[in-house]
Amino acid sequence: KRNIAVMTSGGDAPGMNANVRAIVRSAIFRGCKPFAVYEGYSGLVKGGDYIKEMHWEDVRGWLVEGGTLIGTARCKEFTQRPGRLSACKNLIDAGIDALIVCGGDGSLTGADVFRSEWPSLIKELLDNGQITREKYEKHQHLNICGTVGSIDNDMCSTNATIGAYSSLDRICRAIDYIDATANSHSRAFVVEVMGRHCGWLALMSGLATSADYILIPEKPSSSKEWQDQMCEIVSKHRSRGRRKTIVVVAEGAIANDLTPITSKDVKDVLVNRLGLDTRITTLGHVQRGGTAVAYDRMLATLQGVEAVQAVLECTPDTPSPMIGIKENKIVRRPLAEAVKLTKSVAAAIDSRNFKKAMELRDSAFSE
Ligand code: ADP
Repeated sequence: KRNIAVMTSGGDAPGMNANVRAIVRSAIFRGCKPFAVYEGYSGLVKGGDYIKEMHWEDVRGWLVEGGTLIGTARCKEFTQRPGRLSACKNLIDAGIDALIVCGGDGSLTGADVFRSEWPSLIKELLDNGQITREKYEKHQHLNICGTVGSIDNDMCSTNATIGAYSSLDRICRAIDYIDATANSHSRAFVVEVMGRHCGWLALMSGLATSADYILIPEKPSSSKEWQDQMCEIVSKHRSRGRRKTIVVVAEGAIANDLTPITSKDVKDVLVNRLGLDTRITTLGHVQRGGTAVAYDRMLATLQGVEAVQAVLECTPDTPSPMIGIKENKIVRRPLAEAVKLTKSVAAAIDSRNFKKAMELRDSAFSE
């Protein structure tokens, strides 16, 4: 029977609470003791009241709540060894031997670093007299498991991340609202959505709202190409009687020569070349807000149950797992590999090597 801690880290995402709820209740159901680490790695480094035992009723109603009720933070201390040493001591003091982290690739990288360093961290605590030999023997290994909370849907080895479908739903609703006013005034709107290295939100929301044009980081194009193509398509739509123009731009959209494609650039083209009355709407944090859609509640719950199962089954020799979903089945993948692939994809996109980026993304699913 284990003492299992759960934390949320990095950018918040709808469905994180549903994930925490499932982990807490699943742990109790299996006879384990669940703990919540508040405020991400920052709570782990601070310890004390930031690490609390959780009970069944503590997570009542959490399935539908947006954001993360146990808080999240970016934590610089945890990226340095002294911070991780103090996190290690705090976990041992609380008697915790397994940690489930719900976060993006940064948070899961941190979790992986922590696990690899664990043997030397406990040795240092023993040598410094900060833990007893008995505790040292008992806490030889820390079980780590990752569940992916990210609105961008930017992690390799999973078809969907917790929060992405809620964010997509929010964007589509916002564009529906914009549609009405755009139609009324016969205006053009440039809608900027989140996604630094992954255009999933822009692409899917554009598709689901019949946007005229979509700009994403993964699409190779010179400045002249996208500008000419957008103008041609928008003019064609207008000539067929369409009164509104919607262009969706991912925040990470970038041209072949590495110049970012900003909403302002897109607006300028629509105004200067087509003479359209154009406004920019940057959706910003609205995309993170609100309750989780049914898909995210389902995904977060199934993944929470699987995460607890994984923690109970993993041995010191098993690579830390990340819980994903592939073709509608919940799957376990090696966490370190998924994070490494995700970072390589981002680097390939940054260097405009799209073929490599797509091959790397696909390789995550080849058996
Ligand atoms: P996300 O998880 O959404 O990608 P970040 O990249 O901001 O968000 O990472 C969240 C936190 O994870 C960081 O503030 C830091 O504490 C921790 N972290 C990220 N990368 C590392 C790393 N290489 N080593 C240790 N901790 C890390």
